[in-house]
Amino acid sequence: MKLYNTLTRQKDEFIPLVPGQVKMYSCGPTVYNYFHIGNARPFIMFDLLRRYFEYRGYQVNFVQNFTDIDDKVITKANEEGVDFNTIAERYIKEYYVDAEGLGIKRATMHPRATETMDAIIDIVQRLLDKGHAYVAENGDVYFRTKSFAEYGKLCHQPMEELQAGARIGVGETKEDPMDFAVWKAAKPGEPAWDTPWGTKGRPGWHIECSAMACKYLGDTIDIHSGGLDLIFPHHENEIAQSECANGCTFANYWLHNGFLTIDNEKMSKSKGNFFMVRDAAKEFGYETIRMFMLSAHYRSPLNYSVESLEMNKASLSRLYECRNNMEFRIEKAAGDSMNAEENVKLESLMGYKQKFIDAMDDDMNTADALSAVFELVREINGYMSAHDDVSKAFLTAAHGLFMELTGVLNLAQKRDEAADPDEDKINELVAQRTAAKKAKDFAEADRIRDVLAEMGVIIKDTRQGVQIQRVKK
Ligand code: AMP
Ligand code: ZN
Repeated sequence: MKLYNTLTRQKDEFIPLVPGQVKMYSCGPTVYNYFHIGNARPFIMFDLLRRYFEYRGYQVNFVQNFTDIDDKVITKANEEGVDFNTIAERYIKEYYVDAEGLGIKRATMHPRATETMDAIIDIVQRLLDKGHAYVAENGDVYFRTKSFAEYGKLCHQPMEELQAGARIGVGETKEDPMDFAVWKAAKPGEPAWDTPWGTKGRPGWHIECSAMACKYLGDTIDIHSGGLDLIFPHHENEIAQSECANGCTFANYWLHNGFLTIDNEKMSKSKGNFFMVRDAAKEFGYETIRMFMLSAHYRSPLNYSVESLEMNKASLSRLYECRNNMEFRIEKAAGDSMNAEENVKLESLMGYKQKFIDAMDDDMNTADALSAVFELVREINGYMSAHDDVSKAFLTAAHGLFMELTGVLNLAQKRDEAADPDEDKINELVAQRTAAKKAKDFAEADRIRDVLAEMGVIIKDTRQGVQIQRVKK
């Protein structure tokens, strides 16, 4: 498998540290609010990478953190007059609600900064011991950026250029404008932790990821990922801290997703041009959002628009329709073996699996992988409508292939119609309509069909019987 590596600026063949295993770390949300569609992009796409590795037989150890203590969490807590922990707890719970809706698996671990304080304090202490960090006059601890000669290797900027953009902020007492905080001395009323170097305080943002990746995955990991905006300074700083503290490479592959835009501008909380996943899901459904994300390669920009969501909603229905048609036909079909024509057809369908794998192996190209799935759908649909007597064996194999590929993407896997409270009523109406048709009372049969349509049920008469299709009302 090839992955585009920000560090080398090319697609590199993925070679894991330990054969058959993947150690992945992805930067998670700061939990002071619901997350928006832009934030959802890395959460969905790097979860998909994990799923794909698992599909290919790797054992994946995937860590995604929760930043549960920082300025934004504290500000929100002060606004509401509650403890910072109340805010963090609330939005961690809400994260899981949206993540589950979007079909994101729980990571192997979701550590929180406040629960990793020992490891954070330990790495800061090691940086102090080695002279890569210092305690400033105001009690903050800063990383001595110039002590790491390779600084800038991820964002591919020479030190001098980065230096030109560096500033010393109000209240900061750094030796050099390039230095950044690894520990912040407590301000009155703020949550604070004791340290061996004497300043009570809380961690800077960058250090928590260095500490967590190291604690849960080891000094060197395979893959580190996040959004494009994190390359500099967040990931550049993580590299500097980790490599200075541990004396070895931090991550072999650095993956970054492109921006989710709206009117071609980056969606962000600070600009106010965002849609919460929660709200968009009410309008389009969570799975449509997932489909929309997967419709583009994770590194390309992706623009959010109602038209695009509607289009993806329709694409998703095509997947469900194909699955439901196959399942309907499997129930009715006979034939435990395939005829010669079916054998040839199945062989050709298998070609789409290879196409799918080739696309995913090429830097997780979900756009092409989805095209392979839709070509498969078109062929299956075409074959089923041209042949009334397809064998159960062929249908089961085609269905298995469809479920395997869509299963990797975690699309069209839902079975919520089984829990349809109208199920009995629908079956009764269908039976009444069949009886009316038999009695040649076509007006009554049409009336019942309209009642069903009202309930979001479309019926189709086929040679195998009445086919029921539920559409969202
Ligand atoms: P935050 O909670 O702001 O730290 O963001 C969590 C994740 O979302 C990070 O990996 C960000 O890079 C990513 N992210 C934020 N905004 C966008 C966007 N508009 N498009 C893509 N990724 C984003
Ligand atoms: Zn991070």
